[in-house]
Amino acid sequence: LIELRDVNKYYGKLHVLRDIDLTVGRGEVVVVIGPSGSGKSTLCRTINRLESIESGTITLSGRPLPAEGKALAQLRAEVGMVFQSFNLFAHKTVLANVSLAQIKVRGRKKEQANERSRDLLDRVGLAAQADKYPAQLSGGQQQRVAIARALAMDPTVLLFDEPTSALDPEMINEVLEVMRQLAQEGMTMVVVTHEMGFARSAANRVVFMADGAIVEDRAPEEFFNAPKSDRAKDFLSKIL
Ligand code: ATP
Ligand code: MG
Repeated sequence: LIELRDVNKYYGKLHVLRDIDLTVGRGEVVVVIGPSGSGKSTLCRTINRLESIESGTITLSGRPLPAEGKALAQLRAEVGMVFQSFNLFAHKTVLANVSLAQIKVRGRKKEQANERSRDLLDRVGLAAQADKYPAQLSGGQQQRVAIARALAMDPTVLLFDEPTSALDPEMINEVLEVMRQLAQEGMTMVVVTHEMGFARSAANRVVFMADGAIVEDRAPEEFFNAPKSDRAKDFLSKIL
């Protein structure tokens, strides 16, 4: 579904992505881990062209990523992204937050969009919060709204960049639970996270990055039980 071949990216002289080869199949859940600054966020951002690349190719469903224009907007709608900071519109209700892009980007009628939004809010356990404003919700609830908003675009893949890092511990699980559910339903997901329990239980593969390169790309049980590289061993010894 997503294929990166020999992707390289620089910020000025800094080589942030090095010869990245990565394939994500339909329905796969790939967890990306690695030290701070290793290029995890940059990788996510290149997948939906929030960042340009200097060389290599990225294809989605066999099509190369468009560089600009309407095709790019469509691609972005197809690749949902959930960030650490929830990025909700503070002056809009929860329902309006989930409906907005459906109306603007997908061209749905307001009633139709709201109906879909209510379904999705129900799915993430927030049916009762539809008419509240983001500030009236907990962090975990806000992140679940952000997930509902991403789902409302009917994405073919969802990218998560540390979706639980900004949350208080007691709220992390409610967000991971929604993500587990999506994984079970067959959603294709690329998840940057430090939640190793999630990686073990929900991932099909773990991708370990260091210094802009993919150092390991393996099944979670293999990776956690017997990391091959010194970088991964060192990383795991610090966080587990
Ligand atoms: P973290 O775990 O801290 O989120 P990360 O693995 O997501 O780290 P990236 O954010 O992808 O790492 O950053 C990779 C490298 O690129 C870092 O050295 C970072 O300082 C640098 N970098 C990131 N964004 C930019 C930018 N817009 N301009 C210049 N350098 C950047
Ligand atoms: Mg990051």
